[in-house]
Amino acid sequence: MGGLTRVDSATMARWLEGSAVAMREQRDYLTQLDAAIGDADHGTNMDRGFASVVTKLEELDDSTPPGKLLVAAGSTLVSTVGGASGPLWGTALRRAGRSIGDGESFDGAALATALEAALDGVVKLGAARPGDKTMVDALEPAVRALRERVDGGASAADALVAAREAAEDGMHATVPLQASKGRASYLGERSIGHQDPGATSTVFILRALEQAVRERP
Ligand code: ADP
Ligand code: MG
Repeated sequence: MGGLTRVDSATMARWLEGSAVAMREQRDYLTQLDAAIGDADHGTNMDRGFASVVTKLEELDDSTPPGKLLVAAGSTLVSTVGGASGPLWGTALRRAGRSIGDGESFDGAALATALEAALDGVVKLGAARPGDKTMVDALEPAVRALRERVDGGASAADALVAAREAAEDGMHATVPLQASKGRASYLGERSIGHQDPGATSTVFILRALEQAVRERP
């Protein structure tokens, strides 16, 4: 039964650590994508930010609740990443953490609510809508799929598979779009034909979440 899935601090730590591993592995790829339509720093930004998050996690007490862990991770991203992605993902994680609150664990429905809060934070800060060729093009359909599956009774793990798939579709769909937010928008029509770097890192982050929840001990 899906409703019995609980997500705790250990799961959230595995998510953030898995994201850090992915950002390290994908750093050059993400930077190449950003070289085409930005300033070639997205991979280094995300790698630096998530490496700092892992350092921050090591400083935190083992009893830190999952919501507080995400708030701390978000604040770390804001303070260590200079590019647009730092404040955007930082706000996302802080908003998700605040939504989760101080409980020791939470269920799939609370996870969906947390990611809705994360998306809301990104949209409030960056004012991007789906179709603007940003991370919102991956995050928004993922959050929608997560909510639909969880409400339909799926486990958090299964719902996250659908969420990650929706993010991948959204990421691929950024290729033919013309950017209207962020640095890529300065290129106008020349931004067409390239995959958005932030939508791409979003897929890796959601994949890490999917794996962290599936691999619950
Ligand atoms: P910068 O653009 O400052 O160099 P990064 O290269 O780290 O920052 O991140 C670029 C990514 O940030 C883009 O690919 C896009 O997905 C995302 N992004 C940029 N501006 C916005 C925005 N206003 N709203 C949502 N996402 C944005
Ligand atoms: Mg950049």
